[in-house]
Amino acid sequence: MEIGTTDVLILGSGLAGLRAALSARQEAPDLDITVVSATSGPSGSSFANRNDALGMQVCFSDKDQEIFAREASSLAKPGRIIPELVEILTEESLPRFQDLCELGVRFSRDTQGRLCLHSGCFSPNSRRAAIFKNLAQAFACFSSKLAGSVRFLSGWQATGLLKEDSTTPKVFGAMLQQTEEPATTFAVRSKTTIMALGGPAPLYPWHQAGPSNPGYSLALLNRAGVHLMNHGFLQMMWARASDRSFWSFRSFRPGFLVRQPDGGTRAADSALFEHRTQRISHCPAAYRLADAEMDRFLLEHLNYDGFVQVHSPDCGWQAIAPMAHAGNGGAKINAQSQTSLQSLYACGECAAGMHGANRIGGAMVTATQVFGHRAGLFAAREALKAKQADRQSLKKVFADHAVNNEIMKNKTPIQKELIGRIQQSPLSDDHSFLSQVSDALDEKLKSPDLPLEQELKLESLQLILADRLNHLLN
Ligand SMILES: Cc1cc2nc3c(=O)[nH]c(=O)nc-3n(C[C@H](O)[C@H](O)[C@H](O)COP(=O)(O)OP(=O)(O)OC[C@H]3O[C@@H](n4cnc5c(N)ncnc54)[C@H](O)[C@@H]3O)c2cc1C
Repeated sequence: MEIGTTDVLILGSGLAGLRAALSARQEAPDLDITVVSATSGPSGSSFANRNDALGMQVCFSDKDQEIFAREASSLAKPGRIIPELVEILTEESLPRFQDLCELGVRFSRDTQGRLCLHSGCFSPNSRRAAIFKNLAQAFACFSSKLAGSVRFLSGWQATGLLKEDSTTPKVFGAMLQQTEEPATTFAVRSKTTIMALGGPAPLYPWHQAGPSNPGYSLALLNRAGVHLMNHGFLQMMWARASDRSFWSFRSFRPGFLVRQPDGGTRAADSALFEHRTQRISHCPAAYRLADAEMDRFLLEHLNYDGFVQVHSPDCGWQAIAPMAHAGNGGAKINAQSQTSLQSLYACGECAAGMHGANRIGGAMVTATQVFGHRAGLFAAREALKAKQADRQSLKKVFADHAVNNEIMKNKTPIQKELIGRIQQSPLSDDHSFLSQVSDALDEKLKSPDLPLEQELKLESLQLILADRLNHLLN
């Protein structure tokens, strides 16, 4: 087993990981910094999402900060937010936005050079969202700034965190596996580690997340014993089956029909149209807002292939599906982006506490920059004072991983039907249904012949369901 050594290990090269790398480098020019990524080019939802554009919430004034914090708090339930993190998010959104501009990221401006500002999902009256297009250009801004000063380990997938089991559990690196055959494993020990592996949307057969994210960051965090929060709250958006383009509730008005299993049609109850204006003001389905009734109506008619056939007078018949977009939960972090484990930091979509169940559109990009910066800064400061773990303590962890590698030799396909049913779960408040799926996953996980990657994926899905159940029952 080869062992590599670095001072600061960053897992993931999306907006969060690269921001963390930049801040760690700026804080400590002499530290050895390594960024691990499944691929070398633009990846993840940050740099390769299907919209090729991202919005970022920026609070330009105290009033903006105050309104943002109030909105975020009112949208949080049934999830939770940590007010201190929301305060940091609002206060540091402007400096981090300015950093991006300085880096060369091109936010949309009018012909006079003024920034174009937009409303965001769940915040229809605000004008705080700045947008940049051409994500590959944004990736190039980061990578050219980091080139030569940070080591990029591309083509490697993180499959576990290395952890010392003492009274204060400490993370000292990660296990990696090559994405291409022969799938060699490699251990990297580090003084500090930053998790920036993105969210769980790719676990769903129908999703909109960017490529090169296997989607199992939750399982990696959970296996290490990291405290998670809000991980049951995933954003689901309706999109057309034909090209995965966004489908809007604008066509949900009198005359709207859905196809029934027996081939007949059903009209939406007129009471549902009352929610139309509110539903149009956000793309993701909402948790615990009245307009979720409209989503429920569609979900009731979901076929086993994951689609609903809908008809509107202006568009005719179309197949649409709820597609996983982004998660709102992950590792609970503190103001320094530290997780509950010593020397482990988290940022971006796999970190939690700054968003509740419903997230204001554009707030995730802000979070990648604000907490990516903090993760890089504080991980570098800790690494400057810390010692490297000794090789003796690494031996035990390798032994544990050898067991997992044995498991990986057997390839068993995930039960597609089960996964198809899970698609429906994030919005369903039917707790017996959720328990059933969760139990089935439990059984599947006990199966001895699952490859590690699939095991991690199922475990992540199970964590999402367990959290949803928890919120339903309490
Ligand atoms: C279509 C779409 C539009 C969106 N629009 C907006 C928007 O306008 N505003 C907003 O705020 N948010 C938006 N989001 C959400 C937002 O883009 C993401 O939440 C955010 O970019 C996540 O950044 P990240 O760095 O945490 O993760 P990602 O950008 O997903 O990056 C994860 C990185 O980790 C790597 N990786 C993952 N797992 C492994 C592993 N096991 N081993 C090695 N490498 C791994 C990936 O290759 C990638 O480099 C959108 C999402 C989608 C899908």
